[in-house]
Amino acid sequence: MREKLDAFILCKMWLGGWRMNIHEYQGKEILKQYGVVVPNGKVAFTVSEAVEAAKELDTNVYVVKAQIHAGGRGKAGGVKIAKNLDEVRTYAQEILGKVLVTHQTGPEGKEVKRLLIEEGCDIQKEYYVGLVVDRNTNRVVMMASEEGGTEIEEVAEKTPEKIFKEVIDPAVGLLPFQARKLAFSINIPSKLVNKAVKFMMGLYQAFVDKDCSIAEINPLVVTGDGNVMALDAKLNFDSNALYRHQDVMKLRDLDEEDPKEIEASNYDLNYIALGGNIGCMVNGAGLAMATMDIIKFYGGEPANFLDVGGGATAEKVTAAFKLILSDENVKGIFINIFGGIMKCDVIAEGVVEAAKQVSLDRPLVVRLEGTNVDLGKKILNESGLNIVAAESMADGAEKIVSLVK
Ligand code: GDP
Ligand code: MN
Repeated sequence: MREKLDAFILCKMWLGGWRMNIHEYQGKEILKQYGVVVPNGKVAFTVSEAVEAAKELDTNVYVVKAQIHAGGRGKAGGVKIAKNLDEVRTYAQEILGKVLVTHQTGPEGKEVKRLLIEEGCDIQKEYYVGLVVDRNTNRVVMMASEEGGTEIEEVAEKTPEKIFKEVIDPAVGLLPFQARKLAFSINIPSKLVNKAVKFMMGLYQAFVDKDCSIAEINPLVVTGDGNVMALDAKLNFDSNALYRHQDVMKLRDLDEEDPKEIEASNYDLNYIALGGNIGCMVNGAGLAMATMDIIKFYGGEPANFLDVGGGATAEKVTAAFKLILSDENVKGIFINIFGGIMKCDVIAEGVVEAAKQVSLDRPLVVRLEGTNVDLGKKILNESGLNIVAAESMADGAEKIVSLVK
């Protein structure tokens, strides 16, 4: 659990911050601006829009693709090849509104609300090309493989020798010779190597310009008529840089995000929903992780990671507390605050205010320490709320675990 949580939190909050994902069709629009070749296509929100979009394409093979923020759509029936407009209509009817369950959606799946209608192409071979921020080298790394179309995680596990990497020096960017080396390593047909190099250079430039945290093309394809193009595109963005990319911000699709995480981001709270039943409100990411650990140590399961941050206001604490209460899986709450910059009385006020707004119907254990602790405890004591006071972090964890049992 700790390892899973570490990786989870590190990647989600500290490394890239919160990551914003966009749809495939939006990613392709961006890549096109950088000279990366993508099939002609258009987004459709309804069946008739899908047919209209297909009519505009100069082709006799169409691809109807589900647009959700998850991969694995092909295997789940979310990518269909249509040979005429009637088939486009049939597939659009079939896929729109369908709940797709892929290895990336979780068992509950994701409802398809948008389609991408594209020109089909004559695929000769599928490859993989991706850019990530590598933690070992602290550099952007381009990865490429001949094993395209399949899950790259699987290739990495079973045949790691089939993945080639180039570490990119940020001062000079991806150099053409590096791209060429990758193209040769993955056996791009020699007469198409220059096109593949142009593709990779464009992909890298998009990654840097837009402050991406991931750019993954799976598959990149070589076509019968000698093109090198992106059939799929996954772009994720570093949230810490989004302020300077209003164009990217506009692409956010709230339908694809956890409503509780949206609410949290509105209040600038670091919140991640987890699987357990103990809601946690903590200040500081380190203390929040230690809190999860100690809950686990006493046999409990945290329902969330929530760091209210250093300078939280009572309003922010109220929002945080309501957020925890809105989770039906939460059977008890543990507030663990060390008041350094954060003042204990502010936390207390926020909790009391939130409990007034939504009835507190579950056990609440509070451990407060630090700045204005006496005032904080006084506010809680006089609130009339049913609060169990904890003497230490361990004491609090032990108490909440036994209360939810
Ligand atoms: P994912 O499964 O969510 O990663 O969706 P992809 O966009 O990668 O599509 C899955 C698979 O569908 C690809 O690997 C291709 O084999 C196939 N596919 C996608 N677009 C086309 C196309 O234009 N023509 C053909 N023939 N196959 C396609
Ligand atoms: Mn794919």
